[in-house]
Amino acid sequence: MSDNKIKIPFADLSRTHVPLKEEFLKELSSIIDTGDFILGHKVAEFESAYAHFSNTKHCIGVGNGLDALKIALRSAGVTKGDKVLVPAHTFSATWLAVADIGAVPVGCDVDKDTFNIDVSVTNLLRIKELKAMVPVHIYGSACNMDTIMDFAQNANCVVVEDNAQAQGALYKQKATGSFGIANATSFYPGKNVGAMGDAGAITTNSDEILDKARSLRNYGSLKKYEHNELGYNSRLDTMQAALLQVKLKQVELWNEERNKLAARYRQNLSAIEQIKFQRVPDNSTSVYHIMAILINQRQALQQHLFSYGIQTIIHYPTQPHLQSAFAYLGYTKGSFPVAELIAEQTLSLPLFAGMTEDEVDEVSDRVIQFFR
Ligand SMILES: *Cc1c(COP(=O)(O)O)cnc(C)c1O
Repeated sequence: MSDNKIKIPFADLSRTHVPLKEEFLKELSSIIDTGDFILGHKVAEFESAYAHFSNTKHCIGVGNGLDALKIALRSAGVTKGDKVLVPAHTFSATWLAVADIGAVPVGCDVDKDTFNIDVSVTNLLRIKELKAMVPVHIYGSACNMDTIMDFAQNANCVVVEDNAQAQGALYKQKATGSFGIANATSFYPGKNVGAMGDAGAITTNSDEILDKARSLRNYGSLKKYEHNELGYNSRLDTMQAALLQVKLKQVELWNEERNKLAARYRQNLSAIEQIKFQRVPDNSTSVYHIMAILINQRQALQQHLFSYGIQTIIHYPTQPHLQSAFAYLGYTKGSFPVAELIAEQTLSLPLFAGMTEDEVDEVSDRVIQFFR
């Protein structure tokens, strides 16, 4: 089926963007007039707004989520040869960031119900060797941060949250992206807080990390033409910052909308025994970045839905430990059985701010039809 036959897309960003278009254009127009392009005052304004949103003291805007992770890890003191615990079920960027700074990703399986990192299975590791761990709030559902912070304390390692999927999620009333010493997020367009191009950020309560991350995003330099370390050019673009600030004001509303739609899916599909949903842990909230279901006949269901113009996506068909890029780490099929089962069974249904309840019902009806 060609794209123009898609009736219900996986996501439709225009539904939230079009009503705000005037405001977006006004912002861009004023930046064009002033020429305030690189680390302009809109960057500082957005950083302060996003820090507030994240319950942290500081936010440092950078070029994308992968860079945010790299800079967060390096700012937290992770360096060449250090071991960093990462969940097996995540987008590859979590592992790439660790590898790219010369550290070693140490995979950890995930919980079969929450799909988040399961530190209880790491007892075989020599955990004292870990320098850091990167919990990922997968699909928008906050990890049990008490368990993670206790584990990190015992292992004497630092926590760097990958909050790319969970902007606005809470654990015990506290925002994800505020627990680690330095935390990373992505404003890739499809994320809950999405730019109109690449963008990302680090959040932290530490003044030291603030300086370090500001330096790393700007050639390792805090003072022009003085370079204290090997940095990057990864600054949050002023235009993206201005657009993000407009969108940030709406995000809580959009996350609420996502929650209502997700609840509707769960209700509609509750009678289908073959479907398993992600469990949101006690004391956690989810912002439903992704509405995932686990099923046995995934390919057939995906085709069935597509034949009715309903677009679905798989997050993620091949996990980092089975990608050729990470073959050197020596993992094989069977290394992380729970994560691998999720990869085989997971299917992401359409869910986005601006989606209608009728659309959720239509997708649900087609899913129900498939199982009948
Ligand atoms: C999107 C994402 C990233 C990477 O963000 P980019 O801005 O695309 O580089 C990292 N980790 C997770 C879990 C993500 O979903």
